[in-house]
Amino acid sequence: MRIGFDIDDTLIDLRQHAFHLYNKKLNKALPVEIYHQIPTVEIHAPFELTSEQGKQMWQDCMEEIYFTDCPAFDAAVDTLNQLAADGHEIFYITSRPKHHCPRTKAWVKAQGFPVKDENFFCGMADHEKIDIIKSLKLDIYVDDKPAVLDTLQGIGTKIIVRDRSYNQDVKHTRLTDWATFKNYL
Ligand SMILES: [Mg+2]
Repeated sequence: MRIGFDIDDTLIDLRQHAFHLYNKKLNKALPVEIYHQIPTVEIHAPFELTSEQGKQMWQDCMEEIYFTDCPAFDAAVDTLNQLAADGHEIFYITSRPKHHCPRTKAWVKAQGFPVKDENFFCGMADHEKIDIIKSLKLDIYVDDKPAVLDTLQGIGTKIIVRDRSYNQDVKHTRLTDWATFKNYL
């Protein structure tokens, strides 16, 4: 099968990683329970930042958010390696900014994910992911973000939602644990 994956908050726990960085940078100690209840993709509200300040904070921390020690979700690395070993074609489709593409690809490889250079797509807007998903003729695509998932209705690709606090209203098949991904093939 041809299987596509978003990266941030689908394969890796990026927002939680950023939440801990925000705590450090802002000298706060918000407990992780707060993180798990944030109903939006953006994480700035519990830190009492305005939307503008939140955007700036994300920009200012982007280097550390993207390229330090953000953990992969449990079983994600093993699952994708097993899929590749079983002969499935793995694709990555991330809307991280274009200028971060080469380093993102290198970072994802360094975490142990199976990456073929020609199967790594980066730098598109959320609403542009659908064009890549269609042109690659993916059998399955996994993402977490409502702004992306809402554009993926009625295409031939089976869409799977990586279950998160902010995407509970999205109506697609839901994945809560990477160890169970094979049940969806
Ligand atoms: Mg994502």
